[in-house]
Amino acid sequence: MMKTSSIALLVLLFHTILSLSATFATPTSFHDNFLQCLSLPSDPSIPIYSSNSSSYSSILQFSVRNLRFSTPTTPKPELIITALDESHVQAAVICSRKHGLHLLTRSGGHDYEGLSYVSDVPFVIVDLLNLQSISVDAKKGTAWVQAGATIGQLYHNIVVKSRTYGFPAGICPTVGIGGHFGGGGYGALLRKYGLAADNIVDARLVNVDGKILDRKSMG
Ligand SMILES: Cc1cc2nc3c(=O)[nH]c(=O)nc-3n(C[C@H](O)[C@H](O)[C@H](O)COP(=O)(O)OP(=O)(O)OC[C@H]3O[C@@H](n4cnc5c(N)ncnc54)[C@H](O)[C@@H]3O)c2cc1C
Repeated sequence: MMKTSSIALLVLLFHTILSLSATFATPTSFHDNFLQCLSLPSDPSIPIYSSNSSSYSSILQFSVRNLRFSTPTTPKPELIITALDESHVQAAVICSRKHGLHLLTRSGGHDYEGLSYVSDVPFVIVDLLNLQSISVDAKKGTAWVQAGATIGQLYHNIVVKSRTYGFPAGICPTVGIGGHFGGGGYGALLRKYGLAADNIVDARLVNVDGKILDRKSMG
């Protein structure tokens, strides 16, 4: 029988510790102020979709895994920000906080209650679907994975590099790294190697101030 080793994982996890809500001003002033904030301190090319954008619906639906939360009456986001790099996540956090907006983070969209894409107050989604890079170092037995990747993509990338390493996480390959690791993550290797979260050896987090923290900076 093949012996499976656990691969320690370095995770690039965009953890936006933010749950602010407020009543929006008029849509126009909201859009103007928020968009102005996003474009000033950072890259002006942050991809942002409003309900007027032709891709808005397809991007919103892309990661909706519970169709109970995909009806005509389901509350929809004011904007969807599909971050292309860390600085876009930082900008989303900083500007949401500045304007008192409710910001939801979505990785794989498998939340049972749709918490990454539905809210009963007006909200904005920062969607990590573009952040899917995975870099496996089989010699060190570690990998960096971005939060928008799926656990299936992680398993695939590991097996391409090594026939003996694996990673102890869930069964469903389309589950997102961000929500899965943040909640623990259990699967077939649980009894021997514990949860996915037990095997994370470093992480890059965006805190509520928009700063990036990692293992070293967090002591
Ligand atoms: C079909 C199915 C199979 C599953 N199988 C398993 C299994 O085998 N083992 C197991 O342990 N679990 C399993 N789960 C549960 C799954 O791990 C959780 O629902 C997990 O939170 C989904 O993560 P996600 O990124 O896909 O979801 P999302 O809906 O994107 O996120 C879930 C929650 O995490 C937050 N979040 C997402 N990304 C980030 C981020 N980068 N930083 C901070 N917060 C973030 C969201 O805001 C939301 O509150 C399964 C779920 C489904 C629907």
